Amino acid sequence: MNRRQLLSTTLAACALLATSTGAARAHGRRNKVVLIGIDGVLYSRIEQARAPNLLRLSAEGLLSRSSVAPHISISGPSWATVLTGVWDRKHGITGNIFDAVPFARYPTLFTRLQRARPGLKTQCIATWEMIAVMAGSGDPRADVVVTTAPVPDDPDESKTDAATAAGVVTAITRFGPDFCFTHLDQVDHAGHFAGGARSGNYLAAIERVDELVGRIVAAVDARAAAEPAESWTILVTTDHGHTPKGGHGGLSTDETATFVIARGPDFPAGVTTDRFSLADLTPTVLDLLGAPPDPASDGRSMLAALSERPLAGR
Ligand SMILES: [Zn+2]
Repeated sequence: MNRRQLLSTTLAACALLATSTGAARAHGRRNKVVLIGIDGVLYSRIEQARAPNLLRLSAEGLLSRSSVAPHISISGPSWATVLTGVWDRKHGITGNIFDAVPFARYPTLFTRLQRARPGLKTQCIATWEMIAVMAGSGDPRADVVVTTAPVPDDPDESKTDAATAAGVVTAITRFGPDFCFTHLDQVDHAGHFAGGARSGNYLAAIERVDELVGRIVAAVDARAAAEPAESWTILVTTDHGHTPKGGHGGLSTDETATFVIARGPDFPAGVTTDRFSLADLTPTVLDLLGAPPDPASDGRSMLAALSERPLAGR
């Protein structure tokens, strides 16, 4: 059997296992998910930076690059989509000032997980304070909702993001939450205030964030090695891009470009597609953690979609 045959056989076997119940649970293991949100990062610049940890996650998992248009390319609307599975036309958030009201109609992933499986442990650890409005909404809400206190003398947000990542590493290592969402902000900050997406500062911010992603991945991998009954999936996404000179909110390709990385036993390795978007993350996490799908969702579980129509590996 040559490598291609072996790969296709392995993929076929994986496709059999990767039903919407998830490969890990088919083996009696307990799924855990970490969703890493990096604000305002363009995948094309991750490639230019040769960011080792993010590129490794893509190589070990599935990468989907797609546009959020015509959805508004602003943080509030997009993180709300990540955490509810519906686009701005439904949740109604159009900017960065909002309250918990939209999440009564479209509950967050945290609320949905806790309602379906009250025993699940969920955490949200974020640099941007408005993420806590989302994770803290609803009843029940996330078990742990942390906004990292801004570190003094931190003009590029690198210290504050490092503190956020340290909190995530501690949470994974010590508590192993079933679902952990984190938000890192410094790349968006560089886009707005340090020269735009074309600048060296933007690349430098990507390199710093990549290092933090590496710490989180190392914590997950160490935990997975120490706890063989746990099966960990890492998801990575962004909310919008940036123009070459900096800024977003419009419908240009650079502003609406987003991506999803999914690395775990349910996802084929080394596959690039455009099939999945921000709206698919909530349905995917619900599926991985054994909670029912939301009929009102604009997205769907990537596991279910892959079991119907598998993607071939590179
Ligand atoms: Zn943003």
